[in-house]
Amino acid sequence: MKTANILGVSFHNVTLKEAVDCAMEQIRAGKKGYVVTPNPEIVYETLQDTVFRDIVNRASLVLPDGIGVIYAARILGIPLAGKVPGIDFADALMYRMSQEGMRLFLLGAKPGVAQQAAENLQKKYPGLVIAGTQDGYFQDDQQAIEAVKAVGGADVMFTCLGAPKQEKFMAGHLDELPVTLSCGLGGSLDVFAGTVQRAPEIFIRLNLEWFYRLCKQPSRIGRMMKLPLFLLIVIKTRLFGGNKK
Ligand code: UDP
Repeated sequence: MKTANILGVSFHNVTLKEAVDCAMEQIRAGKKGYVVTPNPEIVYETLQDTVFRDIVNRASLVLPDGIGVIYAARILGIPLAGKVPGIDFADALMYRMSQEGMRLFLLGAKPGVAQQAAENLQKKYPGLVIAGTQDGYFQDDQQAIEAVKAVGGADVMFTCLGAPKQEKFMAGHLDELPVTLSCGLGGSLDVFAGTVQRAPEIFIRLNLEWFYRLCKQPSRIGRMMKLPLFLLIVIKTRLFGGNKK
């Protein structure tokens, strides 16, 4: 699979459909791995944390979540098929899993949220088997691993603990977790549960979903300040070359 290196993160150059095809192949083959969906904020974090960067680059799929990554690719003159938001990937994957009666475990978010998400997703994708749920505020990782083991594992686990916690969890427990493919999906369970609304379609189409989220949750401003910093480094890299690693 072709990759595009953006400030040291090797994104897979795939469409949403190709990403889901690839994930399904991997699940059917029983090949263990994990999916990451870096946005500019996460790429910026990897510049300060090389352990995190290596974890991101070892993923089976590195999907460009957000328009900021696509702009960066354009500025750097690297082709990327388009954004593949984690939540869209999750929806498309669940649709395909439901056709084959596959098992999904939901890990993350505040107590009660994953259960509510499970109820909603079960209605939306009747063929999908929700193997179990566990909130994301466990005291030690072993507790979460035991919860997955207790239900006999799953084909896929949505690991929604926020970055970099979810990526470190997926990579750190890859062998131990009885799950074929883990997907790090940030706040997706909140959206599936209906506790957080996704932006209206018009914002998504105009690539202004980030702006909608900022208006709804102004406390995100600190995190979002990393976006202009990320773009500045991209422009600097384009103009002066330098450390793309
Ligand atoms: N979260 C969690 N455990 C933690 C910290 C966070 O389960 O220790 C959850 C949090 O409740 C939220 C998600 O992780 O559901 C992170 O959401 P955020 O909006 O930060 O992620 P994004 O979609 O922006 O990557």
